[in-house]
Amino acid sequence: MADAQQIKGCCPLDCQDTCAWSARVEGGRVVRIEGAKDHPFTRGVLCAKVRDFEARTYSLDRLLHPLRRVGPKGSGRFERIGWKDAVDLIADRFLEIIAAEGAEALLPFHYLGSMGVAQRQALMRLFHALGASRLGGSICGAAIDALAVEGHPWAHVCPRIRLAEGG
Ligand code: SF4
Repeated sequence: MADAQQIKGCCPLDCQDTCAWSARVEGGRVVRIEGAKDHPFTRGVLCAKVRDFEARTYSLDRLLHPLRRVGPKGSGRFERIGWKDAVDLIADRFLEIIAAEGAEALLPFHYLGSMGVAQRQALMRLFHALGASRLGGSICGAAIDALAVEGHPWAHVCPRIRLAEGG
């Protein structure tokens, strides 16, 4: 196809590899993604989660617009709003919190989703600039660290190990 292009990029998902990819775009639409052959880690191979990333990109189930909750939590009632309204809503709330309690009353918390090296901390530049609190790891990670410091064991006891030990 005359207007076909190969666009270089990298995987935003959950592991540390940040695999390099090359996306074939035809008529403004991605038609195939493959691992970059010249990348020393990726060497032409993407994992099963990402080999068909174009299907995820164009999925009809994908959220494409901000939604604002209009009912009680759990009711599943949302209305579509514009991007500017969504950003204004969040910015106004942040400013309210900062004015009332100080910037450290903001605690950025996110876990899972797009958490590769390139994507995971992308929002933190904003929170650092605001002076928000910093979280060591995740909320559950920080809690288990605190327990470990007090001498509590870290892990669940595996029933198979108990059986092997005759417990
Ligand atoms: S999720 Fe798959 S493609 Fe993405 S960085 Fe990890 S191994 Fe690579």
